Amino acid sequence: MVKGISILGSTGSIGRQTAEAAGRLGIPVLAIAARRDVELLEKQARELHPRYVGVFDPSAANQLRERLSDTDITVEEGEGSLVAAACVDGADCVVTGVSGSIGLRPTLAAIRAGRRIALANKETLVCAGTIVMSEAARCGAEILPVDSEHSAIFQCLAGRDRRELRQILLTGSGGPFRGWTAEQTRDVTPEQAVRHPNWSMGAKISVDSATMMNKGLEFIEAMHLFSVSPDQIRVVIHPESAVHSMVELVDGTVIAQLGVPDMGLPIQYALTWPERMPSVTPSLDFAALGSMHFEDPDLEKVPCLRLAMDCARQGGTSPCILSAANEAAVGAFLGHRIGYHDIYRLVAGAVEAGEYIPCPTLEEILAADARAREYVKDSIA
Ligand code: MG
Repeated sequence: MVKGISILGSTGSIGRQTAEAAGRLGIPVLAIAARRDVELLEKQARELHPRYVGVFDPSAANQLRERLSDTDITVEEGEGSLVAAACVDGADCVVTGVSGSIGLRPTLAAIRAGRRIALANKETLVCAGTIVMSEAARCGAEILPVDSEHSAIFQCLAGRDRRELRQILLTGSGGPFRGWTAEQTRDVTPEQAVRHPNWSMGAKISVDSATMMNKGLEFIEAMHLFSVSPDQIRVVIHPESAVHSMVELVDGTVIAQLGVPDMGLPIQYALTWPERMPSVTPSLDFAALGSMHFEDPDLEKVPCLRLAMDCARQGGTSPCILSAANEAAVGAFLGHRIGYHDIYRLVAGAVEAGEYIPCPTLEEILAADARAREYVKDSIA
């Protein structure tokens, strides 16, 4: 089990559940960081007693510094404060629960500091998976997936020779609009899109689940985490979310990981690995579940997934452009500035317009990321 952690994105869904798990497991939280939720950051600082709080937004950092002036907690601001939080003294693990490519630099810094990465920030691997994984190998840093599908795959592959793997079966519920036609989804509102049938998650990832861009990002995340080719990953729609993903071995044996859909489970496993500890997650009630269904995704109805799989095959800067444009477009959709179908239209446009670089450096990735956001912004204005 880890000795002390820092939590990036502590005020988000993953961050709050991580704080809860750490409390239950008796793991000290040495640093927390988030974008700007001063109210919750103050509450967490007083409850968790971290040494260090990073706040991305400078004015929010000023407010928090004021509020915590009666404590000896250090409050700093900007992207640098996320990096400092990730590398805080005494922590041997960082949980990256921030959403978006903002997680990239802190993750790389923590890898170079030899920390275990409990990775919930899939955009980091989507944008710069090749660089992140090779840095982790060079620095001997463990990357433990917190994404439920990847945690499942990780558990199914544990102790197994990779040459035994035939393919990964990446499951997804299909989101709240499974089976809906383009006609039916045209006027979908942000409020409808964030209402996921099985999982309780943040707004951005909930919209990604509705468009199935999330499964596309997970497809790319799996390629990097498990060093497999796109042809070795098959997306399987499984509306009940009882199977969290599976692996098929060369002899045709399939191993699945099942459980109730509760992010507390993969979070805890990333903190306690290679051990398992008791948890408060309820048992999966098979009789109540009754039956499980599986089907192939209809790529005509979920163009975001198709586009992401195309970008996965292209590699280079394509996944980064896809992910950055998607972040910007989903932000605009959540702000009621564009319609639901505009998400795909804008992301596809950004990929089309973006410069393709086959083996980009970190600087080239960050530049491609910025240009993709710019493209989306300009297309809306
Ligand atoms: Mg997931």
